[in-house]
Amino acid sequence: MSGDAFRHTSDFIRHIIREDIKAGRNSGRVHTRFPPEPNGYLHIGHAKSICLNFGVAREFNGLCNLRFDDTNPSREEAEYVESIKSDVRWLGFEWGDRLFFASDYFEQLYRYAVELIRAGLAYVCDLSAEEIRRYRGTLTSPGRESPYRNRTVEENLDLFERMRAGEFGDGSRTLRAKIDMSAGNINMRDPVIYRIQHTAHHRTGDKWCIYPMYDFAHCISDSIEGITHSLCTLEFEDHRPLYDWFLDKLGIFHPQQIEFARLNLSHTVMSKRKLLKLVEEGHVRGWDDPRMPTISGLRRRGFTPASIRNFCERIGVARRDSVVDIALLEHCIREDLNRTAPRVMAVLRPLKVVIVNYPEDQVEELDAVNNPEDPGAGTRKVPFSRVLYIERDDFMEEPPAKFYRLSPGREVRLRYAYFITCTGVVKDERTGDITEVHCTYDPRTRGGDSPDGRKVRATLHWVSALHAVTAEVRLYSHLFATADPGEIGDDLSAHLNPDSLETLRSCRVEPSLSDAPPGSRYQFERVGYFCADPDSAPGRPVFNRTVTLRDTWAKIKGGIAAR
Ligand code: ATP
Ligand code: MG
Repeated sequence: MSGDAFRHTSDFIRHIIREDIKAGRNSGRVHTRFPPEPNGYLHIGHAKSICLNFGVAREFNGLCNLRFDDTNPSREEAEYVESIKSDVRWLGFEWGDRLFFASDYFEQLYRYAVELIRAGLAYVCDLSAEEIRRYRGTLTSPGRESPYRNRTVEENLDLFERMRAGEFGDGSRTLRAKIDMSAGNINMRDPVIYRIQHTAHHRTGDKWCIYPMYDFAHCISDSIEGITHSLCTLEFEDHRPLYDWFLDKLGIFHPQQIEFARLNLSHTVMSKRKLLKLVEEGHVRGWDDPRMPTISGLRRRGFTPASIRNFCERIGVARRDSVVDIALLEHCIREDLNRTAPRVMAVLRPLKVVIVNYPEDQVEELDAVNNPEDPGAGTRKVPFSRVLYIERDDFMEEPPAKFYRLSPGREVRLRYAYFITCTGVVKDERTGDITEVHCTYDPRTRGGDSPDGRKVRATLHWVSALHAVTAEVRLYSHLFATADPGEIGDDLSAHLNPDSLETLRSCRVEPSLSDAPPGSRYQFERVGYFCADPDSAPGRPVFNRTVTLRDTWAKIKGGIAAR
């Protein structure tokens, strides 16, 4: 892994860690964790958290654990665990032998809960979920104490054990922390720490029918693993007093929770629940649909791990919520692919061109540069013959002012080939559509060089009709028509961009792309960056457009718009 991919900036979290090290806290140790819940695929927001947690560990010679926060059996699946592991690895991070599951701590968590009961700090409550909600009060009014709040320790121990033994039905009882029903912070009003749920768990099977709540499991898991800095997103700020309360009351190792702003991206959604909805309702083809902001979608779209890490570094880490323009993400992949992607010629909407003065059976192999940004990438041969395809857009029979590409009487350059001059068109008699463009070529311009200083105003890409391979090309644009669909609630379909996918089935690409391996990335000259899709078959490649060549980011002033 190249060092520069992990260049790091400074931010308030790194500042805190540096101060902690200076003060000798945790004996100078830095230990973070990335704690995904295995209830969906990772998205670009998670990438921010992954880059932060693993990045900080790397920079401070510390460690970072991968811990699955698998405390909710009804929404979690092993499939998600595997996809998350492979996505983290693909992004370039390794957890070594530190792969953990909150479910590994179920026994220990249970014992800590018993300790709280013994200390008079937790009780079994028979209120229903709805009743608990009603008793909780509001932001402006205090809550009311549960009638079960003052059960004896013995009764609580007995009931909790019987909850575990499966004597009670789902939702009939909970274990709650005994804190303060009039606390200003609602999270402190006797929060539920265990619920009854007779649901098999993807790792513990039927062993448990009571499951710990996130707030209880998370801080203790952090503590068990010796995490020094527990980095999480801002919505957990109001949970921090509870995080601290459990650890203080149990008197166990106390990591420091630090909150940062979550990543929001324009024109997409970043909640797993909403992404799942898009998949389940069939608005996209799956979690790895190239329009999805998931890591697997971005990978299929053609993003590189380096471009995503670079993006995460540029957006930085702050405490202020913002929406990052998706154009910045596109800028990052463009920058990467400009350096690394080989150039090839592909015609998306073919128009036939016949070079009328070119010998019928002649084929020339012309030299084409693989990457002008990388002299080491060398050249390749592309076949040229009498019948070619160019882009339909590159020809106009009656060009308006400022259209400098091919039109009757006009001379243009075919990249790496010859200057050609349009001499006429052939039309479909019935529809009037142009079916062929006739041209002559100047043999003295071989390689695309002018013999006499003669200038042309356009250089077109092309493929030889005889040699080109038919390809399917999928053009993507924003999944949502609204810049901030995060704000629109649950009716996602009303805001989807109906044109987010355009499939072109009769593109013609140069023969070198015939068996392009899935995942290989190219710049189609003048058209954009593309990546071969796993749907490709030998001789019948399928490409996803990663991004266009036009960089809209450069024009966006300031870049990151404050919400
Ligand atoms: P979602 O809202 O998509 O369901 P989540 O927070 O429930 O996300 P988790 O699997 O719990 O998803 O997230 C794992 C870690 O990634 C958490 O520490 C969480 O704070 C962080 N994370 C999730 N979404 C973002 C985001 N948009 N930006 C930064 N970090 C994020
Ligand atoms: Mg979460």
